[in-house]
Amino acid sequence: MTVGGSGVVIDVDGLRMRYGSTDVLREVTFRARRGEVLVLLGPNGAGKTTTVEILEGFRKRSAGTVSVLGADPAEGDEAWRARIGVVLQSWRDHGKWRVRELLAHLGSYYAPYADRDALRPWDTDELIALVGLTEHADAKIQNLSGGQRRRVDVAVGVVGRPEVLFLDEPTAGLDPEAKREFHDLVHRLADKHGTTILLTTHDMDEADKLADRILILAGGRIIADGSADELARRITGKAEVRWTRDGQRFVHTTTESTKYVHELFKQYGEEIGELEVRRASLEDTYMALVHQHESGAPTDFRTLEEVTAR
Ligand code: ADP
Repeated sequence: MTVGGSGVVIDVDGLRMRYGSTDVLREVTFRARRGEVLVLLGPNGAGKTTTVEILEGFRKRSAGTVSVLGADPAEGDEAWRARIGVVLQSWRDHGKWRVRELLAHLGSYYAPYADRDALRPWDTDELIALVGLTEHADAKIQNLSGGQRRRVDVAVGVVGRPEVLFLDEPTAGLDPEAKREFHDLVHRLADKHGTTILLTTHDMDEADKLADRILILAGGRIIADGSADELARRITGKAEVRWTRDGQRFVHTTTESTKYVHELFKQYGEEIGELEVRRASLEDTYMALVHQHESGAPTDFRTLEEVTAR
């Protein structure tokens, strides 16, 4: 059995987690479909790591239903685990191992779980090329730079060709180039290999670039669920129109940017230059939603799908 007919790979309903007398997760509900990239955002202590660890089967939940690849992670067996990939914070063990050696060794654990749909593990050299480490395939892990080690972490996470991949702050400490390469890799895994990816980050640019859907966790609940565009429209519905005329710069904020631009051209025609229409940035949106939640303002718990379907 793989995934349900609806293509739902992760299904979380009413998830609760209590540590001692503190409710960290009160009612977390969301779904992910095959090949979707979900980015989980939230303030420190919101419960992102807790959520991810419950989905990985590393932590027992207090209540609610959770299904990953059709199974309850709390009862996931080895065959289930072989279909899940986890990228942990930097790989510190095995410093004396060489990159190719380590990946071939770890990959061998997945061989018994290969099936018609999934050739497990990944061919070692193909995987090394995928994460951009070909030139360092024979280097010892302890001699790699921070960014190169991070690539090893990713390779370790995907060596079994997982159908679901969990990444906790995967690009912390990477330089812009390594970050961009990592983003390309995430897109490739999702688009070409159909991998469903759930990642946490504090980097809003990264979330914006990677996410098919953004989930914001605050106060123990998912307070927003939608694409960056959808979330931006939801908080303000406003866009910023910028242009120049006669060498002067203008900015106007409006809820009806298309109509506004139309009027602008009708009035000034070719005098208009450098036209730009920008929605609120993801960071603006995130801050507004979290503040709105913290100030106790009524929060709309419906997902965007439900809102737009009305
Ligand atoms: P985030 O990843 O969003 O920063 P975490 O899931 O790490 O949040 O933590 C959420 C809350 O749960 C924090 O207040 C943290 O102190 C608490 N917490 C996490 N793990 C434990 C634990 N094992 N025992 C008690 N409290 C914990």
